[in-house]
Amino acid sequence: MNDFKSMDLFAPLQRALAENHYKTPTPIQCQTIPPAIEGADILGCAQTGTGKTAAFALPILDFLGHEKPATKPNRPAVLVLAPTRELAIQIGDSFRTYGKHMKFRQALVYGGVGQGQQVNELKRGVHVLIATPGRLQDLMDQGHVNLNDIQIFVLDEADRMLDMGFLPALKKIIAKVPRQKQSLFFSATLPPKIRELAARLLFNPVSITVASKTPTVERIEQSVRYAKRGNKFASLMDLLNGKNVDRAIVFTRTKHGANGLAKKLDRAGIAATAIHGNKTQNARQRALEAFRQKKVTVLVATDVAARGIDIDGVTHVINFDMPVEPESYVHRIGRTGRAGSDGIAISFCTEDELDELRSIEKLIGTRIRVENPEMKFDTKPGPAKDKPNPRKGNRNRRRKSSNAELRNGAQRTYRRRKKSQNEGKPSRKTKSASN
Ligand code: AMP
Repeated sequence: MNDFKSMDLFAPLQRALAENHYKTPTPIQCQTIPPAIEGADILGCAQTGTGKTAAFALPILDFLGHEKPATKPNRPAVLVLAPTRELAIQIGDSFRTYGKHMKFRQALVYGGVGQGQQVNELKRGVHVLIATPGRLQDLMDQGHVNLNDIQIFVLDEADRMLDMGFLPALKKIIAKVPRQKQSLFFSATLPPKIRELAARLLFNPVSITVASKTPTVERIEQSVRYAKRGNKFASLMDLLNGKNVDRAIVFTRTKHGANGLAKKLDRAGIAATAIHGNKTQNARQRALEAFRQKKVTVLVATDVAARGIDIDGVTHVINFDMPVEPESYVHRIGRTGRAGSDGIAISFCTEDELDELRSIEKLIGTRIRVENPEMKFDTKPGPAKDKPNPRKGNRNRRRKSSNAELRNGAQRTYRRRKKSQNEGKPSRKTKSASN
């Protein structure tokens, strides 16, 4: 299926896609949208930057367009769970973009802001509720949300939720969602706890894996610059001044580091702002807006805050600190080269960070070009097998087998939603899996 027009999507969605110049579905969209509009459960193993938001938003909007469920106070029909406020907001923006020519109501529920407006919107009744787990649980406990009418449930970036300690909240929320529903489950990786969760939630899912080495990542020109700890800032200035840097995201390991670096850049004459989890929601939105509108050239970010940032035209991603988790590298560099354009990712690597570099190379399955190989460390970087990291090695092996298991278990035994409608059968499939 190599264009959206040949997909059986609700006409107003086709119109919005055409207006946004979406012609060709991405691989995850090709594989997810047709079974999802027929009511199948989906297990999608994919990173951000692969187009996975549209992969779940379009089938949901298609469902709303065709089945037109009525809104009821405090009882949404669709629940989308996302790990961060930024991601929730972006998902909301995507729903608005794709659903521009449709009538539907959505509410966003996340922490860090007062709950008054969220409570009012819920009371008025919404079709789609997009929420982070903590605030949702809070509102459920207060009686502002009832999940008994959920017909489609989306879990986005499930592994990230696990990393952020949301697993207990997630389990409580899942226990309140009806058994008979369609579930769309997305995770960049499938560690055992996520597999367990998926197995509990999904019924005969269509399993889709978009390899971590996505075409988007392949289009990114990646390099490593060896640096001494004290030289990183000079190296960064050199880079920001010397190259054609239009918009850059610079990643640091800590919130404190992000603040300090943004201030230092500002003092050195480069307009920069920081975004991290300690900032209020408003401050984070202001920082993103300043970056989006090019009032600042550089956004200094930590991993959690940057996850899901979707700003087109980011020319450079610079890893001021190497990410500790190799998967974060793929997420970070995925902030550039988005929506079909190329990007540049440069990682500063000190001698202390060589292990991280090796783990990343192992994960992405390729060596990253070193810009200054002449710079010598005491320990020379070598292939990952020179110094195996048992923890990460095991995890990769586990992930491989889990993918294979899930693939084998996935049988396309879903029922066509539209067909069943014609036959006068219930429109969503009945499930026997327990929650
Ligand atoms: P996501 O992985 O959902 O964060 O999407 C990554 C970026 O790709 C976003 O900027 C989307 O607007 C864009 N995008 C998603 N699908 C398509 C498509 N089929 N054609 C063009 N751009 C797309």
